[in-house]
Amino acid sequence: MDVSSFLQRVWNYAEQTNIEFIQSGSHRGFSDYGLPDTRGFTPHLRQVRLYQEDTLENLNLKGGQPSQVKLWLTHDLLHILFYDFIFFNVGESAFSHYESFLEFHLASEAFAVWALDYQVLAKNSHEGLAIQLDQKQWREFQKSNPKLPSFGSQALGKDITQLYLTGHTQYLQLGMTTHPAYEEWVGHELRYSEKQRLYAQMWWDDLQLEQLSYRLPEITKSYIDEAVMELTELLLFPSTQWESYLKSLNFHGANNFFQEAPKYQKKGSFTDYRFTPLQALSFDQFKISYKEALEIKRPSASDLFFFYQLITKLPVSDYSDVDLNLLQNITQAANRDPTLPPSLWESFVAIVRKKETSYFKKIDLNQFQQKNLASVFFLP
Ligand SMILES: [Zn+2]
Repeated sequence: MDVSSFLQRVWNYAEQTNIEFIQSGSHRGFSDYGLPDTRGFTPHLRQVRLYQEDTLENLNLKGGQPSQVKLWLTHDLLHILFYDFIFFNVGESAFSHYESFLEFHLASEAFAVWALDYQVLAKNSHEGLAIQLDQKQWREFQKSNPKLPSFGSQALGKDITQLYLTGHTQYLQLGMTTHPAYEEWVGHELRYSEKQRLYAQMWWDDLQLEQLSYRLPEITKSYIDEAVMELTELLLFPSTQWESYLKSLNFHGANNFFQEAPKYQKKGSFTDYRFTPLQALSFDQFKISYKEALEIKRPSASDLFFFYQLITKLPVSDYSDVDLNLLQNITQAANRDPTLPPSLWESFVAIVRKKETSYFKKIDLNQFQQKNLASVFFLP
């Protein structure tokens, strides 16, 4: 299937099943200075959050070129497609238990990458998102690593899904060859899948209102790879099957797949801003947290994300080049170790203080206390 037809199919799904597109209140362009994506990721709410600059009209989802922006939104939508598929097959408690939460979320990641990157972008020699791979390179890869099954085969797709769940793979091995593209592809898959396992565990811990364990989970004895293959086939092959799948969906009661998690059920005292948007707070809570954050001497990753969220409430053009360069130095250091050297942390806080009046002027009181946003995922 070509890239445009695939995107069309995914966008039609979004339209027909009422996936919501929401302006996140965050501005685009800060990634150039090393800041994380502060739109926030909310597949459990069947919502896709957009940067302020991106409206559905100017994105022109149904036409034009498949830009990277559109492809990332498609990746987010594919997560929802998979969550939906699970919801219909397993029911409302699908995401309520540790093992199944990790299993289904990690499989949604594998599905998004397998369907879009492997089955569509690589087969059409299009620039990739999560991986850089062109099907045309595959024969060379197979010469270097004869264990590799054919490209796009179920054997490969299942192996990649198992890699995302367990960290183990039958076929992807480093050091088999001096082929740089092969090493880059395998290396990236190994790192990316490990990061996803760590993030999923962190998300779960935060949803349970537990201290983050930073454990690397291993979901073994899972057959979810079958579901990844099944939904991929439905999505890619004859439209009659796809149409009847669409017709069979009924979204009654599916407005928050994580509804049963403690973070949604009761109010937690521990707030990690890597999983909590400022909009989830009351305005009073926000003001208190803001004052406290300014006084912090040794920041944690969560403190940094509190300010990242605030900083991106103003457009990039509101900041001076000097401050933007400083931000870049700060994020580079923070990515190595969030406990920034005191001088960097002080200059970071100084940037925030300089813009304080503008933030407060921009703040819309109606944007606070959005209970459905108790859990939002900000990690890349
Ligand atoms: Zn993803």
